[in-house]
Amino acid sequence: MEVAGQGRQAGGTPRAALAELLAGNRRFISGQPVHGHDVTAAAAASGDQQPYAVVLGCIDSRVPLEAIFDQTFGAICVIRTGGHVLDRAVRGSIEYVVGQLGVPLVLVLGHERCGAVGATVDALRSGERPGGSLAHLVEEIAPAVTEVGLDDPAVHPLAIRRHVRRTVHALRADDLLVGPVAAGRVAVVGGLYDLRTGEVALLDPT
Ligand SMILES: [Zn+2]
Repeated sequence: MEVAGQGRQAGGTPRAALAELLAGNRRFISGQPVHGHDVTAAAAASGDQQPYAVVLGCIDSRVPLEAIFDQTFGAICVIRTGGHVLDRAVRGSIEYVVGQLGVPLVLVLGHERCGAVGATVDALRSGERPGGSLAHLVEEIAPAVTEVGLDDPAVHPLAIRRHVRRTVHALRADDLLVGPVAAGRVAVVGGLYDLRTGEVALLDPT
C-alpha cells in the first residue's frame, strides 16, 4: 500500500500531484498529519529521490512547507526566498527538478501578511529603497504593488495575490519550462496560505 504523500507514481500528472499536495494540506488542517519527521522516515527515503512536486514559498518562519502539506522525506522539493522572489538560482533549481527529476507540478505559494510585500509597500511609499541585496527583493515585488496601486487601502493583501500570479506567469514563460507547460506535462499554479487556518487556497484554480 502506498503511503500518502510519499512520492509520485511513475508518469504522474500535474493534476494528480496537485491533488496529493492539497490532500496533505487537508490532513494538516484536520490535525491528523500522517508523516513524522524522525530519522526512520529519513532512512526510508534515503534511496534515489522521486519527488512529485516542487513548492516555491516564502522564507517566513510561520510557513514551513513540508509541515503545512504534511509531506515526508523525498516527497517534495522546496525552495524558499523572501516573498518567493525569483532569481537565477531559483529558476535553475526549478528547471533541474522539472527537467531532470521529471516533476510535473510547480506550486508558488504566497501567504497572508507577507513581510516582504509589506516592506515593498513601505519602500515605495517612502521612496527609501533598502541597500544591499535586499533591494533585489523590493525591485522584484514592486511591480505587483504598483499594479494594485499604493492608494488602494487593501494594497498589501492584493499585492500579495498579484505577486503570486506574476511569479506563476514568469515561471510559465521560463525558457526551459515553457515547452513542458505548453505540452501539458507540467503545470505551474499559484496558491495562498492562511496563517491562522492553515489552509492553502489555489489562485485561479483550473
Ligand atoms: Zn512572506
